Amino acid sequence: MAKEDLEKQDPLEETAGYVRLALPLMSQYNIPITPRNYAVWYDYVSGKSLELQEAINAMLEKAEQFSDEINDMLYQRFCAELDESALIDLRDNLRQLLLDIFSQVADLTEQAGEYETIVSKSVDKLSEGTSIHEIRTVVDDIIVETKKIGHSGRATQEKLQEATDELESLKQEFEQAKAAALVDFLTGIANRKAFDMAVKGSVEEAVSDDDPLCLLLIDIDHFKRFNDEYGHIVGDEVLRLVARKIKDNVRGRDFVARYGGEEFAVILPGTPIRGAKTVAENIRQSFSEGKLKRVKTSEYVGSITISVGAAQYRTGESVEDLVDRSDKALYFAKEAGRNRVATEAELT
Ligand code: GH3
Ligand code: MG
Ligand code: MG
Repeated sequence: MAKEDLEKQDPLEETAGYVRLALPLMSQYNIPITPRNYAVWYDYVSGKSLELQEAINAMLEKAEQFSDEINDMLYQRFCAELDESALIDLRDNLRQLLLDIFSQVADLTEQAGEYETIVSKSVDKLSEGTSIHEIRTVVDDIIVETKKIGHSGRATQEKLQEATDELESLKQEFEQAKAAALVDFLTGIANRKAFDMAVKGSVEEAVSDDDPLCLLLIDIDHFKRFNDEYGHIVGDEVLRLVARKIKDNVRGRDFVARYGGEEFAVILPGTPIRGAKTVAENIRQSFSEGKLKRVKTSEYVGSITISVGAAQYRTGESVEDLVDRSDKALYFAKEAGRNRVATEAELT
């Protein structure tokens, strides 16, 4: 390949920049992240084809939906003709590999908030044979591949070095994204997905160590009313406060997660039901201290109370059984008048 040809290629660093531009757009317009769609939007943001840009811009102006047919048409019309040069092949390979990484992140994010619907839809549609490795492995592969082809010419070497650096930093971003996929966006504590993983691990450990294990489910009382009275923004502040207060009342190995809207879960390893009840009471009482004060404005808003259901793991049962009994205890606490702790013992 002639040197000039090489100089004309995108530095791979740019590729990464386009990746970051293309994905949010695809999310915004609900476009499944398939390799073909990805190729279309990559070319759109990189400005490679004026015709493609015009076509998409016209659609955006008319607020047209990007249906499967339209996505396919865009691909066939503007992107299907592949350039033959070796470096373009390499770029396409990299795109494919990056796509693998995104699908990995997508997998992790499938239950986490807003990202959920777009990503889980996309993952379903990802082309078959897109093997999903550990993020680290995939990006390491890319780096290895990138380094492999670095034989010829100084300019190439430099570009490849740039590419490698960029990929290294992408890798870090993906690892951060992976971690972020386990954190609840609003409260900053573990989310449901993290809880599902943690409770499974805790049960396995309790079984193998023959240790007691308890689960608390905590639900804010009449929170709908609270929201209606003070608005969602104050409601959200309260959720953050509740997360913090629960954390303040547990110890090292205990695991606190936001289980759902205004529900929280606490895993208490090495704790029998009596201990769990004490922890639950401490948490509950920390809310009965009076009115809540807004951090920013210092204005007082109403008080809240919480109800808690507690259950202890029984050998041989499934995680779902444990969650189910905690949930029933919580329901019992609600029925019994709220602002109280109920254990499974009260169910019988
Ligand atoms: P109960 O005592 O029976 O639990 O009554 P409740 O009103 O708390 O329960 P319900 O399940 O009827 O309503 C839950 C409410 O929690 C609905 C919604 O207003 C509020 N909520 C759920 N998620 C969020 C959130 O992310 N932010 C805010 N501000 N409110 C939320
Ligand atoms: Mg609830
Ligand atoms: Mg509630």
